[in-house]
Amino acid sequence: MPGTNLTRSEARERAALISVERYDVDLHLGRGASTFTSRTTVRFRCAQPGASTFIDLIADSVESVTLNGVELDPARAYADSRVALPGLATENVLTIEATCRYMRSGEGLHRFVDPVDSEVYLYSQFEVPDSRRMFAVFEQPDLKAEFSFTVTAPARWEVISVMPTPEPTPAGTGTTGERTEELATWAFAPTPRISSYVTALHAGPYLGVRDSVSTRAGEIPLGVFCRASLLEHLDADNILDATKRGFAFFENEFGVPYPFAKYDQVFAPEYNMGAMENAGAVTITETYVFRAKVTEAIIERRALTILHELAHMWFGDLVTMRWWDDLWLNESFAEYLAHRVLTGATEFADAWVDFGILRKPWGYAAERAPSAHPVAGAPALTAEDALSDFDGISYAKGATAIRQLIAYVGDEAFIAGVSAYLRDKAFGNGTFAEFLAAIEAASGQDLGDWARAWLLTTGRDTLRVEVDGVGAVLARVSPAAYPASRPHVLDVGVYAADAPAQVTRARVEGDRTALPQLRIDGVNRIVLPNSSDLTWASVDFDEATLGALPGRLGELTDPLVRSVCWQALDDGVARGVVDPRIYFDAVARSWPLETHPALFSNVADDSLVMLSRFIPDEVRPAMRTDLAETARTVVEKEPAGSPRATIAARVIARTSTDEGLLRSWLTEGPLWLRGDTDFHWMVVGNLAALGLLSESEVATAEAADPTVSGHLAGLLARASMPTPEAKAWAFEQLTSQAAGHSNHALIELARGLWRSPRRALVRPFVGPFLDAIPAMTAWVGSDALTKVVRFGFPFVVEAQTIELVDAALARDDLTAGVRRAFVEWSWPVREALAARRRWFGTD
Ligand SMILES: [Zn+2]
Repeated sequence: MPGTNLTRSEARERAALISVERYDVDLHLGRGASTFTSRTTVRFRCAQPGASTFIDLIADSVESVTLNGVELDPARAYADSRVALPGLATENVLTIEATCRYMRSGEGLHRFVDPVDSEVYLYSQFEVPDSRRMFAVFEQPDLKAEFSFTVTAPARWEVISVMPTPEPTPAGTGTTGERTEELATWAFAPTPRISSYVTALHAGPYLGVRDSVSTRAGEIPLGVFCRASLLEHLDADNILDATKRGFAFFENEFGVPYPFAKYDQVFAPEYNMGAMENAGAVTITETYVFRAKVTEAIIERRALTILHELAHMWFGDLVTMRWWDDLWLNESFAEYLAHRVLTGATEFADAWVDFGILRKPWGYAAERAPSAHPVAGAPALTAEDALSDFDGISYAKGATAIRQLIAYVGDEAFIAGVSAYLRDKAFGNGTFAEFLAAIEAASGQDLGDWARAWLLTTGRDTLRVEVDGVGAVLARVSPAAYPASRPHVLDVGVYAADAPAQVTRARVEGDRTALPQLRIDGVNRIVLPNSSDLTWASVDFDEATLGALPGRLGELTDPLVRSVCWQALDDGVARGVVDPRIYFDAVARSWPLETHPALFSNVADDSLVMLSRFIPDEVRPAMRTDLAETARTVVEKEPAGSPRATIAARVIARTSTDEGLLRSWLTEGPLWLRGDTDFHWMVVGNLAALGLLSESEVATAEAADPTVSGHLAGLLARASMPTPEAKAWAFEQLTSQAAGHSNHALIELARGLWRSPRRALVRPFVGPFLDAIPAMTAWVGSDALTKVVRFGFPFVVEAQTIELVDAALARDDLTAGVRRAFVEWSWPVREALAARRRWFGTD
């Protein structure tokens, strides 16, 4: 059930009318596999007695509605995911009893059954508008309240919410749908005043590790939890270490004590995002519980996620944006601060390298698409619109804008302004204007022009160094579609093979900035604007630099400089200004020399994406073989079992077409990767996609790994098989509600569907896919469906695909979320088509 979308004006009206004191939410989770009962009592005030409003709820059925002692007829009051509340008093008590549905799409209260041991795990995911799937709620971030949860569930379960878990009391017997259980009831204390989207419930036989951290607010209990069958892989020490460093850092930096009673982190299955900042009860994707060999780059990314969510306890949970159009106040800050802690207080001192190679390309890509929006002040007319803005612009561009703001006003003024804002708005809400006023007060500067150019205007400048003899000028070009005069603080570097590096800092105010300190000469020199990656801009290389880059990139000593080079090559190919062969030349010559873990692994991943996107079908097999060959030289050179050898072996497992080699790896693998299940599945997936594996061989692999990961990898392999039968099966499974697949399974089916050595095989499914997605809104939530479109978009690079997308966009029955997803995720296909035609003259 999609549910009606709350609009911004409705939210404003409702916030002017009512204020909410407290929710008492009573949930019974022992009534079977499909539904649970939810009884909510809300106490709220109304500014205009006699007025009407509504409360949000998505339920299978509403049993009763009692407003101020008067029973309303649920059949009349409940419609379109709202319960109408007429004739309000000044003080109101509302009780609603409903039957709600467990979700399989990672939204609301998600239910998962572990195939390993048939245990049931539940977790909630509410952002943006899904707490209404668990209880009746005025679902908007500025109607904060206290929440008291009472939960009846199997007595042996762990039940985790915002407040510390109380002692349970016995509550008879019931069933989870898998088995009959002794039940118990947990009555949680009321939370501080928070928004409904950061309330939480995790329930199931979760297991974990407990600890505590000393803070200004006293000793705060810590917990780290995952499914029982994953516990052997949970490296809680590493997770707790990053968490404790974050606590110390945030408290010291802003002088505001941790606002909640405890801090649990639950690693959850079939999760749609990286993590979610529920107050004191964070959810994190369980792909961060590593069951296979893991690289340092992935551990760094997990630390980043941990610190990002912890930052949200202050930025988002303690002080919350008033409406979703200020989402950046949450996300840009959490993104920026997580990197600040990583670089300042952990072993990942060069975390901005990871930001440059992973996060910025995500934001640059989002900003190339027609769905680009400003960092702040995007309209977000409805809660569903807001969901679409959880993108690289709100995170990576926003974080970079904050770095520019700090370069502009100074770190001291920035910290002072932010601290004042946090103290002033604690347990309340803030807006862009209020935030800006706090920084202006602390810095004594008028930031109106700066904010307009950087935060309120879409698009980014292009930077290029124009060389005249040995002198240089930095040219800034503002995009024609979004003109603005963005001031930049940035570094420009010159790197010649036969001279020491020169780096100069430039303050860019106009379109042309002289760089008198630089002397542009030397052998094979590289000139790099934004060499320390401080600003947000496209880089256009001069011709001499582009010629020198593939061979010299790997020898540049500063990983941040190399990160900017890789990032600019990637962006340049997508923008159609760099020949993809230059990128692959750099991969062949400079990637094997790459020593930074994040760069080595991200360039490996990126090269596979670039190959599938920007290289035409007839050229690809040869370039694919070259890439596998480059990776083979790394495996041969590196010590067996080293992270670099492992990453290179994965590239081979995913790209090689050598059946003999792949089959030998199927049974044995490189010595150090024997027993590495994820690696095994890469080999299986590649063989399946090449048409070299039978269905019974896939079944054998599935039987050997009866976990949820094995199930998903099996679906991907089956959908990847290059036969008409396999593709028809994948499409059927993807688009049929009756097949009952989870959100993650849908993504794997869609990804596999488009894998094919022959376009003719998958072309017939493009149109039906674009037709099926709008219909799927009836049974897949907006967030989950957007991810299916994002990760499973028909990457069939030809004009007909574009025509079909345009025809789909011309329909008038698309939801805002589906329309946005089609616009945004079809854009890479358009980019790929244009680049292939430009550089190769063919699709
Ligand atoms: Zn976040």
